[in-house]
Amino acid sequence: MIIVMKPHAAENSIKAIADYIQNSGLHAHLSRGTEVTIIGVVGDKSRLSTENLISFKDVDRIVPVTEPYKLANKKFHPEPSRVRVGNTVIGPDTLTVMAGPCAVEGEEQLLGVARAVKAAGATILRGGAYKPRTSPYSFQGLEEEGLKYMQLAGKETGLATVCEVVSHESLEAAVKYVDMIQIGARNMQNFFLLKEAGRSGVPVLLKRGLSATIEEWLNAAEYIISEGNPNVVLCERGIRTFETATRNTLDISAVPVLKERTHLPVIVDPSHASGSYKYVIPLAKAAVACGADGLMVEVHNDPAHALSDGPQSLTFEKFDSMMGQLSPFAKLESRSFPQGEKTE
Ligand code: PEP
Ligand code: MN
Repeated sequence: MIIVMKPHAAENSIKAIADYIQNSGLHAHLSRGTEVTIIGVVGDKSRLSTENLISFKDVDRIVPVTEPYKLANKKFHPEPSRVRVGNTVIGPDTLTVMAGPCAVEGEEQLLGVARAVKAAGATILRGGAYKPRTSPYSFQGLEEEGLKYMQLAGKETGLATVCEVVSHESLEAAVKYVDMIQIGARNMQNFFLLKEAGRSGVPVLLKRGLSATIEEWLNAAEYIISEGNPNVVLCERGIRTFETATRNTLDISAVPVLKERTHLPVIVDPSHASGSYKYVIPLAKAAVACGADGLMVEVHNDPAHALSDGPQSLTFEKFDSMMGQLSPFAKLESRSFPQGEKTE
């Protein structure tokens, strides 16, 4: 449930209720707006009496929250969240672009891609060091060596960095080198990994599972937040459908649905959604027009020879062109690129 306080409720009225909730063995989650404070209650509600709560001073009303996710719920936190990653912030005023190779292949390769995406206006460098490949015979990633190159490329360019983790060991390693960890589609319901990501306190990019409903996805986010880490960003990356013309089907409607249900930032990955560089730019435009807070795009120095996901990777030229083409869409949505507008 949430307790909506009267406008400009006194601080001691808010504290009295929060104390009552905590003393009853539940958790009170405060969300302060400019006029109204909302108190979200997490825990076993049978321990609380609604009549008692409504009789507290300055309480306006009590609203039940029927969804199983509470801390990720917009009812608990009506203001959109902002998540800081390194020196950049993902949130409602900006269009954050994360770009880089599917897999880190070497120091020179990564540095080259990092410089190119930075010059085009990206603020976060992506690169996989632990690759969850469909075939065990495909390139599996450089592991810790790849993380070191990510750190180096981040330092060299000033870009923040994000890298996928797939296990306890990779998570422990990644938090030493990168600014944000990614939980990929295949691990979205690896609840032990989600809890560890929550305990790490590091910003988490949570991709949607291949066949996950939006409610399952928000519950996965709840796992992370309930461990004390509110820094979660959701990434729609396409879902499995009967359609085979694209690698996955981009569920563009997930963006407005999530905007209605959660305060967490939402970004879109048109690369994994489509599987083809040809569709990345139109889908990126659709995502921005639909209200996404950012994009994740695969970019490679030589897509034809990439060790992973070459067919969906943009060249430097195409990425630069995409950033220019996105400018009017960002402007229409009252968003700016975090480092100023990129013009072609
Ligand atoms: C990736 O971002 O490299 C990746 C493997 O994505 P997903 O988990 O969405 O398939
Ligand atoms: Mn990839």
